[in-house]
Amino acid sequence: MLILGLQKTTLLDYPGKIASTIFTGGCNFKCPFCHNKDLVFPPKDAFAFTEEEIFEHLLSKKKILDGVCITGGEPTLHKDLPEFIKKIKDLGFLVKLDSNGTNPDMLAALIESKLVDYIAMDIKTTKEKYNDIACMNSFDIAPIDASVSLLLEGKIDYEFRTTVMAECHTVTDMEAIGQWLKGARAYYLQSYRESEQVINPIFSSPSLETLEQFIDVLKPYIPNTQLRGV
Ligand code: SF4
Repeated sequence: MLILGLQKTTLLDYPGKIASTIFTGGCNFKCPFCHNKDLVFPPKDAFAFTEEEIFEHLLSKKKILDGVCITGGEPTLHKDLPEFIKKIKDLGFLVKLDSNGTNPDMLAALIESKLVDYIAMDIKTTKEKYNDIACMNSFDIAPIDASVSLLLEGKIDYEFRTTVMAECHTVTDMEAIGQWLKGARAYYLQSYRESEQVINPIFSSPSLETLEQFIDVLKPYIPNTQLRGV
């Protein structure tokens, strides 16, 4: 595991829980709107946490924390992620995993072995336009589609979520995404925000009116569609 960040306490990252968030390094996407530039392209001298440091922290906060969020980057790029999560579960914590959905086999294995309690999966845009903003060298929508189908089976608590940019998402896109994710348990739209950590700050935030229009389009497909952080 390459662990490049630790937020010791958060009330925001794990719905309804007090959690710590662990940030893994590296990602197979290069989304220009990504606000974690230093996790996707870690500087050579980036400070990394040891597992010992992480577990020392978790043990010291065992009475306060309900769970642990693992985010990135893309955590499933790390082959030892299941082993790492098992050690967290053995301490009695709930585990939430954030993923871009490119590794459905690992997600399935984690669900099967009851190593995760909640998965939050990014949906960048429609299947057809996906690579326009994911920017992978070699792109295949099939693994992402497989992860969507896996979560829709409902064996685990989950959410889908999309960061919306004024230049990238339209009502027609939302209609297509609604059809794709139809019947999902929860779908959150969050507004793009520019910051120093954005990979390529070429986009802008949508208006509240646009976001509310998107919610109206999505609700017939996913009644639990909500705005987050707006
Ligand atoms: S937004 Fe997520 S999937 Fe995209 S580059 Fe950043 S960490 Fe990777």
